[in-house]
Amino acid sequence: MKILVVEDERKVAAFIKKGLEEEYYTVDIAFNGKEGFDLALECEYDLIILDLMLPFKDGISITRDLRARNIVTPILLLTAKDKIQDKVDGLDAGADDYMTKPFAFEEFIARARALLRRRESLKTLVLKAGELSLDTQTHKMNINNTDIDLTPKEYAILEYLLRNKNKVVSRTKLTQHVYEYNFNTDTNVIDVYINKLRGKIEQHSSVEYIYTVRGVGYVLKEE
Ligand code: CA
Repeated sequence: MKILVVEDERKVAAFIKKGLEEEYYTVDIAFNGKEGFDLALECEYDLIILDLMLPFKDGISITRDLRARNIVTPILLLTAKDKIQDKVDGLDAGADDYMTKPFAFEEFIARARALLRRRESLKTLVLKAGELSLDTQTHKMNINNTDIDLTPKEYAILEYLLRNKNKVVSRTKLTQHVYEYNFNTDTNVIDVYINKLRGKIEQHSSVEYIYTVRGVGYVLKEE
Protein backbone atom coordinates (compact mmCIF):
# COMPACT_ATOMS: atom_id res chain seq x y z
CA MET A 1 0.00 0.00 0.00
CA LYS A 2 1.32 3.39 -0.91
CA ILE A 3 0.47 6.57 0.96
CA LEU A 4 1.12 10.21 0.06
CA VAL A 5 1.74 12.59 2.95
CA VAL A 6 1.49 16.32 2.17
CA GLU A 7 2.78 18.22 5.18
CA ASP A 8 5.02 21.30 5.32
CA GLU A 9 6.16 20.81 8.91
CA ARG A 10 9.14 18.55 8.33
CA LYS A 11 9.18 17.11 11.83
CA VAL A 12 5.52 16.13 11.63
CA ALA A 13 6.04 14.71 8.12
CA ALA A 14 9.02 12.64 9.27
CA PHE A 15 7.11 11.40 12.32
CA ILE A 16 4.12 10.30 10.20
CA LYS A 17 6.34 8.67 7.57
CA LYS A 18 8.29 6.69 10.16
CA GLY A 19 5.10 5.50 11.87
CA LEU A 20 3.47 4.46 8.60
CA GLU A 21 6.58 2.62 7.47
CA GLU A 22 6.56 0.67 10.71
CA GLU A 23 3.08 -0.47 9.64
CA TYR A 24 4.57 -1.73 6.34
CA TYR A 25 3.23 1.10 4.16
CA THR A 26 5.32 2.81 1.50
CA VAL A 27 5.29 6.60 1.94
CA ASP A 28 5.94 9.56 -0.36
CA ILE A 29 6.21 13.01 1.21
CA ALA A 30 5.50 16.40 -0.36
CA PHE A 31 6.40 19.51 1.64
CA ASN A 32 4.12 21.93 -0.19
CA GLY A 33 0.67 21.91 -1.74
CA LYS A 34 1.74 22.25 -5.35
CA GLU A 35 4.17 19.34 -5.16
CA GLY A 36 1.57 17.27 -3.31
CA PHE A 37 -1.11 17.96 -5.90
CA ASP A 38 1.25 17.07 -8.77
CA LEU A 39 2.29 13.79 -7.10
CA ALA A 40 -1.33 12.86 -6.43
CA LEU A 41 -2.11 13.37 -10.13
CA GLU A 42 0.94 11.50 -11.33
CA CYS A 43 1.10 8.45 -9.05
CA GLU A 44 -1.46 5.94 -7.83
CA TYR A 45 -1.88 6.14 -4.08
CA ASP A 46 -4.07 4.12 -1.76
CA LEU A 47 -4.47 7.01 0.68
CA ILE A 48 -3.59 10.72 0.81
CA ILE A 49 -2.82 12.43 4.13
CA LEU A 50 -3.23 16.15 3.64
CA ASP A 51 -2.36 19.02 5.91
CA LEU A 52 -4.81 21.91 5.69
CA MET A 53 -2.44 24.89 5.77
CA LEU A 54 0.22 24.42 3.10
CA PRO A 55 2.44 26.69 0.99
CA PHE A 56 1.29 27.32 -2.63
CA LYS A 57 -1.94 25.30 -2.44
CA ASP A 58 -3.98 24.54 0.67
CA GLY A 59 -5.44 21.17 1.58
CA ILE A 60 -9.01 22.09 0.75
CA SER A 61 -8.11 23.33 -2.77
CA ILE A 62 -6.07 20.17 -3.35
CA THR A 63 -9.00 18.00 -2.26
CA ARG A 64 -11.46 19.91 -4.44
CA ASP A 65 -9.19 19.86 -7.50
CA LEU A 66 -8.40 16.14 -7.15
CA ARG A 67 -12.08 15.26 -6.86
CA ALA A 68 -12.83 17.47 -9.87
CA ARG A 69 -10.37 15.30 -11.80
CA ASN A 70 -12.11 12.12 -10.67
CA ILE A 71 -9.33 11.04 -8.34
CA VAL A 72 -11.25 9.16 -5.66
CA THR A 73 -8.34 8.12 -3.44
CA PRO A 74 -9.38 8.45 0.23
CA ILE A 75 -8.19 11.71 1.80
CA LEU A 76 -7.48 12.23 5.49
CA LEU A 77 -7.11 15.92 6.38
CA LEU A 78 -4.83 17.10 9.16
CA THR A 79 -5.78 20.37 10.73
CA ALA A 80 -3.98 22.37 13.39
CA LYS A 81 -7.12 24.35 13.96
CA ASP A 82 -9.99 22.98 15.91
CA LYS A 83 -12.51 25.05 14.01
CA ILE A 84 -15.74 23.41 12.97
CA GLN A 85 -15.88 25.39 9.72
CA ASP A 86 -12.50 24.03 8.52
CA LYS A 87 -13.70 20.50 9.04
CA VAL A 88 -17.00 21.17 7.28
CA ASP A 89 -15.20 22.82 4.34
CA GLY A 90 -12.77 19.91 4.10
CA LEU A 91 -15.45 17.25 4.12
CA ASP A 92 -17.60 19.25 1.69
CA ALA A 93 -14.64 19.53 -0.68
CA GLY A 94 -14.46 15.72 -0.78
CA ALA A 95 -12.19 14.66 2.06
CA ASP A 96 -13.15 11.43 3.83
CA ASP A 97 -12.02 12.18 7.37
CA TYR A 98 -9.98 14.66 9.38
CA MET A 99 -7.79 14.74 12.46
CA THR A 100 -6.89 17.70 14.63
CA LYS A 101 -3.20 18.12 15.44
CA PRO A 102 -1.66 17.14 17.77
CA PHE A 103 -3.02 13.61 17.60
CA ALA A 104 -2.23 10.26 19.13
CA PHE A 105 -0.47 8.16 16.54
CA GLU A 106 -2.50 5.06 17.33
CA GLU A 107 -5.73 6.86 16.53
CA PHE A 108 -4.21 8.27 13.36
CA ILE A 109 -3.17 4.78 12.19
CA ALA A 110 -6.60 3.37 13.04
CA ARG A 111 -8.29 6.07 10.95
CA ALA A 112 -5.87 5.52 8.07
CA ARG A 113 -6.61 1.78 8.17
CA ALA A 114 -10.36 2.43 8.25
CA LEU A 115 -10.12 4.65 5.17
CA LEU A 116 -8.04 2.07 3.32
CA ARG A 117 -10.62 -0.60 4.15
CA ARG A 118 -13.45 1.53 2.82
CA ARG A 119 -12.34 0.83 -0.70
CA GLU A 120 -14.30 -2.18 -1.81
CA SER A 121 -11.32 -4.10 -3.16
CA LEU A 122 -9.40 -3.61 0.09
CA LYS A 123 -12.00 -5.04 2.45
CA THR A 124 -10.48 -8.49 2.41
CA LEU A 125 -8.14 -8.75 5.36
CA VAL A 126 -6.61 -12.05 4.30
CA LEU A 127 -5.50 -12.35 0.68
CA LYS A 128 -5.36 -15.84 -0.78
CA ALA A 129 -4.09 -17.86 -3.70
CA GLY A 130 -4.39 -21.61 -3.34
CA GLU A 131 -2.62 -22.72 -0.17
CA LEU A 132 -0.88 -19.38 0.20
CA SER A 133 -2.40 -16.56 2.21
CA LEU A 134 -1.27 -13.17 3.45
CA ASP A 135 -2.66 -11.58 6.58
CA THR A 136 -2.81 -7.80 6.08
CA GLN A 137 -3.01 -7.21 9.85
CA THR A 138 -0.10 -9.33 11.08
CA HIS A 139 1.85 -9.03 7.78
CA LYS A 140 2.60 -12.75 7.91
CA MET A 141 2.42 -15.14 4.99
CA ASN A 142 0.85 -18.51 5.63
CA ILE A 143 1.43 -21.63 3.57
CA ASN A 144 -0.17 -24.94 4.47
CA ASN A 145 -0.83 -23.67 8.02
CA THR A 146 2.70 -22.42 8.65
CA ASP A 147 3.18 -18.72 9.43
CA ILE A 148 6.17 -17.14 7.71
CA ASP A 149 7.66 -13.76 8.60
CA LEU A 150 8.24 -11.26 5.80
CA THR A 151 10.28 -8.08 5.63
CA PRO A 152 8.28 -4.89 4.86
CA LYS A 153 9.39 -4.89 1.19
CA GLU A 154 8.67 -8.61 0.73
CA TYR A 155 5.25 -8.01 2.25
CA ALA A 156 4.53 -5.00 0.01
CA ILE A 157 5.48 -6.92 -3.13
CA LEU A 158 3.48 -10.01 -2.21
CA GLU A 159 0.45 -7.94 -1.25
CA TYR A 160 0.50 -6.09 -4.56
CA LEU A 161 0.88 -9.33 -6.54
CA LEU A 162 -1.98 -10.95 -4.60
CA ARG A 163 -4.28 -7.95 -5.11
CA ASN A 164 -3.54 -8.28 -8.82
CA LYS A 165 -3.74 -12.08 -8.80
CA ASN A 166 -3.52 -13.73 -12.24
CA LYS A 167 -2.65 -10.39 -13.84
CA VAL A 168 0.78 -9.57 -15.18
CA VAL A 169 2.34 -6.79 -13.14
CA SER A 170 5.19 -4.89 -14.77
CA ARG A 171 8.46 -4.44 -12.93
CA THR A 172 8.01 -0.66 -13.19
CA LYS A 173 4.54 -0.75 -11.69
CA LEU A 174 5.74 -2.96 -8.85
CA THR A 175 8.71 -0.68 -8.17
CA GLN A 176 6.47 2.40 -8.19
CA HIS A 177 4.17 0.75 -5.72
CA VAL A 178 6.74 -0.42 -3.19
CA TYR A 179 9.35 2.31 -3.44
CA GLU A 180 9.35 6.03 -2.88
CA TYR A 181 8.89 8.46 -5.73
CA ASN A 182 12.58 9.25 -6.24
CA PHE A 183 13.67 5.65 -6.37
CA ASN A 184 15.68 4.66 -9.43
CA THR A 185 13.49 2.14 -11.24
CA ASP A 186 16.35 0.80 -13.37
CA THR A 187 17.75 -1.41 -10.65
CA ASN A 188 17.07 -5.10 -10.31
CA VAL A 189 16.20 -4.78 -6.63
CA ILE A 190 12.65 -6.02 -7.23
CA ASP A 191 14.05 -9.25 -8.70
CA VAL A 192 16.15 -9.72 -5.58
CA TYR A 193 13.07 -9.47 -3.35
CA ILE A 194 11.07 -11.72 -5.65
CA ASN A 195 13.79 -14.36 -5.32
CA LYS A 196 13.73 -14.05 -1.54
CA LEU A 197 9.94 -14.47 -1.55
CA ARG A 198 10.20 -17.48 -3.84
CA GLY A 199 12.76 -18.99 -1.50
CA LYS A 200 10.41 -18.60 1.47
CA ILE A 201 7.51 -20.08 -0.50
CA GLU A 202 9.60 -23.01 -1.76
CA GLN A 203 10.45 -24.08 1.77
CA HIS A 204 6.80 -24.82 2.45
CA SER A 205 5.19 -25.56 -0.90
CA SER A 206 5.87 -27.28 -4.17
CA VAL A 207 3.64 -24.78 -5.96
CA GLU A 208 5.52 -22.01 -7.74
CA TYR A 209 2.95 -19.14 -7.40
CA ILE A 210 5.18 -16.28 -8.65
CA TYR A 211 6.04 -16.55 -12.35
CA THR A 212 8.39 -14.37 -14.36
CA VAL A 213 6.99 -12.88 -17.55
CA ARG A 214 10.15 -12.23 -19.55
CA GLY A 215 10.72 -8.64 -20.53
CA VAL A 216 7.65 -7.49 -18.59
CA GLY A 217 7.45 -8.44 -14.95
CA TYR A 218 5.67 -10.97 -12.77
CA VAL A 219 2.39 -12.72 -12.28
CA LEU A 220 1.10 -14.49 -9.19
CA LYS A 221 -1.02 -17.36 -10.42
CA GLU A 222 -3.73 -19.25 -8.61
CA GLU A 223 -3.72 -22.69 -10.17
CA1 CA B 1 0.91 23.26 7.66
